[in-house]
Amino acid sequence: MCGIVGYIGQKKAYPILIKGLKRLEYRGYDSAGVALISDNNELNVYKAKGKVSDLQAHCQDKDVSGSAGIAHTRWATHGEPSSTNAHPHYSASGRLALIHNGIIENYATLKEKLIERGIEFRSVTDSEVLVQLIDYVQQSNSLSLLEAVQVALRQVIGAYAIAILDRDHPDTIICARQSSPLVVGLGADGDFFLASDASPIAEYTDKVVYLNDGDIAVMQLGKELQVVNLDNVEQHPKVKQIDVTLGQLEKGGYPYFMLKEIFEQPKCLRDCTRGRINVDHDRITLSAVIDYRDRLISARRIIIVACGTSWHAGLIGKMLIESLCRIPVEVEYASEFRYREPVIYPDDVVIAISQSGETADTLAAIEQARSAGAFVFGVCNAIGASIPRQTTTGVYIHVGPEIGVASTKAFTGQVTVLSMLALAIANEKRTIPGDVYKDMVAELTRIPDKMEQALKTNEQIERLAPIFTYAKNSLYLGRGYNYPVALEGALKLKEISYIHAEGYPAAEMKHGPIALIDSEMPVFVIATRDKLYEKVISNIQEVRARGGRVIALVTEGDEQIRKLADHVIELPDTMECFQPLIASIPLQLLAYHIAVCKGKDVDRPRNLAKSVTVE
Ligand code: GLU
Repeated sequence: MCGIVGYIGQKKAYPILIKGLKRLEYRGYDSAGVALISDNNELNVYKAKGKVSDLQAHCQDKDVSGSAGIAHTRWATHGEPSSTNAHPHYSASGRLALIHNGIIENYATLKEKLIERGIEFRSVTDSEVLVQLIDYVQQSNSLSLLEAVQVALRQVIGAYAIAILDRDHPDTIICARQSSPLVVGLGADGDFFLASDASPIAEYTDKVVYLNDGDIAVMQLGKELQVVNLDNVEQHPKVKQIDVTLGQLEKGGYPYFMLKEIFEQPKCLRDCTRGRINVDHDRITLSAVIDYRDRLISARRIIIVACGTSWHAGLIGKMLIESLCRIPVEVEYASEFRYREPVIYPDDVVIAISQSGETADTLAAIEQARSAGAFVFGVCNAIGASIPRQTTTGVYIHVGPEIGVASTKAFTGQVTVLSMLALAIANEKRTIPGDVYKDMVAELTRIPDKMEQALKTNEQIERLAPIFTYAKNSLYLGRGYNYPVALEGALKLKEISYIHAEGYPAAEMKHGPIALIDSEMPVFVIATRDKLYEKVISNIQEVRARGGRVIALVTEGDEQIRKLADHVIELPDTMECFQPLIASIPLQLLAYHIAVCKGKDVDRPRNLAKSVTVE
C-alpha cells in the first residue's frame, strides 16, 4: 500500500525514481508524485492523479534534472485522490518536500496549532502536517533538519514512513519509520536508494538496511549511512543481502503478474519445501520447530491471526493442526483481535500470517499477543519484513515476490508451510503414527506435480469464462478442507472481476443463500472425492432443483457428478488435507479469465492495495 522511492548519488535521479515507482505499482495507489533538487538547486515537485504514466506525461515538458529526489505513489486515506493531495508536499516556506506512507492520527490537533501560527495548508491530507511541522520547528528553533525531524516526530501519533528533501541541503535525504516499512539500499559508488520494499533497489545493489520502528536515517553523500532514534541515540542496524532477482520482478512473457504467479505455483512449492523435506521424502525439518520444540508441542492452544487471503490459509491451518496435532486452534481476523480483549494465556502460541509481513492489523495483533506473554510465530513471504522481526520465530514461505494484488502463490505457500508445521509438530508430539506421517510427507512432495496437472485446466477455464462475465452474483460451495477454498475462490472473483461472490459451507446453503439461487446464478462447487463427497452431491442436487447453474471441481474420472453439473473441471486426486493446494488453482484461473473477459486490470484492481500497511 503506497510506495516510497528515493535516490541520492551521481546518477540522474528521475529515471531511477520513475522505474522504482513502477516496481511498486503492484502495492496499489491512486496518484503519484516526485520531488527533485534540480541541477540549479531548485526544489521541483510534480504530481498527478492516476498512474505513474500520467505523472510521466505531466513531467514531459518539465525540468527533471538533478541527482537527488524522492517519489511516491499514494493510496488515499485522508482526502480524495487528486493532484493537490498527492505527495510530495511542500512546506509553506517552499524549502522542504516530504512523502509519507501511513496515517497521522493526531494530525487534526497539530494542524490546528500550525494554522493558529499562520501556516497555510494546501492539501487536506494528514501527511502535509508533517512537512509543515518539521519546517516550523526547524525555523522557530534554528535547528538542523535532523534535530527538527526528531522534535517534530516526538509530537506525532500514528504510523509513518517518511522521506524529506531539503532545498538548502541538496546532498542529503532524511527518512524515518514507525510501523510502515522502509528499506535503504547502499550503492557501490556511495549513492543511496530508498524504498518501501527491496524491489526498486534490487537492480542497483544487493546491500540493504531494513529500518526499525523509531529509526531516522540520514543519507548524506560522501558519508556513511547514519541511523539514530528520536532521542538521537546512534543505532547500528545490520547491512543485509537481498536475494530478489530481476526476473522475479518482471512478467516473463505473461500478460499479467497474476497469471505468471498462478503458473509459478509448482515451482514455488518446490522452493518452499526445499531443504525442509529430506531427499527420501519422509521427514520434515523446520528449524523453528527444532529450536522451539518444547514450546510448540506444549502449546495449550494456538491462535492464528491474519487478514484476507492469509486468514483463509489460517482456516486450513486450523483443520490441519487440530486433526494432526490435537491442539485446539482459533482463527481470528487480526483487525478484530487487536481491538477486543481476547483471553491470551502465556502458554498459547500465536501464529501470525501475512504475505508482506507488513500488514498493520496483524502487526498490532502480534504486539497484543506479545504483551500478554504469548509465544508468537510468523508465517510470511517478504524477507526481513516487520513480522519476522517482531516474532520469536517463524517460517518463510519462500515463494518469491508476489506482485499481483490478488494473492495466489502466497496462499498456496502459506498452506504448504502450515501443512509442514502441523506435520512436524505432530511428529514430535507423536499424535500421528509414523507411517501416516511418512505417507503424508511423501504426498506433500508430489503436490507440485499435481499442481502442474491442475494448471492444464487453464484452456478449458478460458473457454468457460465468457459464460460468467454477465453474472451479478455467484456462490462458491465446499465442505471440510474445501470450505476455505470456497471462501478464497469467492474472494478472488470479487477482488478482480467485481462480481459479488459468496463462499459458503455447502450444507449451510439451505440456511439462507439457497434463496438467491436462480438460473442466472453460477454456483461453483468443490466436490472432490473425500469423506463428505456424498453429502456434497446432495447439495448439488439442491442447487439444481432450484435451477442454479453448477460448475463442479471434481476428482478425475468422476462420472457421477458429470451427470449432474453443467460443467465439470477435473483435478488430480490427493489426500483430503492437501486438496486446497490443488483445488485453489482452477478457482484462481476462473477469477483471472472472467476478469480479463470483462476488460479489468487484473494486477491493479480498483480500491485495493497489495500490502495493507494502514488500519
Ligand atoms: N495518509 C496519507 C494520505 O492520505 C498517506 C497515504 C499513503 O500511505 O499513501 O495522503
